[in-house]
Amino acid sequence: MTIDLRSDTVTKPTAAMLQAIINAETGDDVYKEDPTVNELEEKLASLFGLDNALFFPTGSMANQAAIKLHTQPGEQLICDKWAHVFNYEGGGVSFNSGVSCKLIDGSRGMITAAQVEENINPPDFYHSPLTTLVCLENTTNKGGGACYDLEEIKKIRSVCTAHGLGLHLDGARLFNALVAKNEDPKVYGEIFDTISICLSKGLGTPLGTVLIGTKEIMKNAIRVRKVLGGGMRQIGFMAAAGIYALEHHVKRLSEDHQKATEISEVLKKQSYIASVEPTETNIVIFTLKPAFSEEVFMKDLSEKKIRISAMGKGKLRVVTHYDYTEEMHKYFLDTLNAYS
Ligand SMILES: *Cc1c(COP(=O)(O)O)cnc(C)c1O
Repeated sequence: MTIDLRSDTVTKPTAAMLQAIINAETGDDVYKEDPTVNELEEKLASLFGLDNALFFPTGSMANQAAIKLHTQPGEQLICDKWAHVFNYEGGGVSFNSGVSCKLIDGSRGMITAAQVEENINPPDFYHSPLTTLVCLENTTNKGGGACYDLEEIKKIRSVCTAHGLGLHLDGARLFNALVAKNEDPKVYGEIFDTISICLSKGLGTPLGTVLIGTKEIMKNAIRVRKVLGGGMRQIGFMAAAGIYALEHHVKRLSEDHQKATEISEVLKKQSYIASVEPTETNIVIFTLKPAFSEEVFMKDLSEKKIRISAMGKGKLRVVTHYDYTEEMHKYFLDTLNAYS
């Protein structure tokens, strides 16, 4: 059996989730007649205290739709230089919305209210693009699962309100942050205009992301999803997996966090490790000492049936998830200890 720690997207549905999928009542969601999709959307909207939610096949599509809903071509959004919307969505910000990104040199993928304020182009200076949106990520992906300080997010909200900017949260792993920091989803609903939440990461469904938002912003969301090619039919089968995950897979995220912390602690003790980034949720990022080659290390691990990922610039990444069992965890820690 292979131990796949490349990402939390590699999980397969559990037997109970498969049963929920099989039992789902479905309809044609393009007509909005799929009761299970409607239930999932209502469930998430009410959990966050927001007006509307819409089911998307992927997180990238949900983020791209949100950006389209918030902006007009030629405008500019502000995000961290490591943001998923800038780095990993195929240039969709410019392709789909004709919008540019003002990149902020943040810390572990997170930016501050002061940085946002400094980077807003003066609206009466007609030479520069009009700043209209701020995109945050929580937890951060490239930042190693780091969680924002809620107080800083509130300050960013104030800056956005003062300057009339929209505020979108790429919450692909928001539930990891909510569990790690014991935060209330409703607080996030009060702060953000739109939030995307992946069901296919730590929550363990085969696919799906839900975009949640205020009535005003979400008014045109179905049309934008259609434009992006995302109208789906009997997708209630996948929404059923999402409902199941929200009911059974949220609290257990703390187990993934615990395992990631243990991996981080073991790594810190190894003579071949140069650095381990702070581990707050389910992602561990570390580097090897210069005498060791990442390629050789990864190849050796893969011969031991352990897969991890390289992020460039010498950074290696491990992500814990539902399918990473206690037994695998023990074997992985023993393997790490055996190199020293
Ligand atoms: C995974 C991820 C997404 C969405 O990715 P898809 O593969 O399109 O579902 C968006 N943002 C972040 C931070 C992610 O980690």
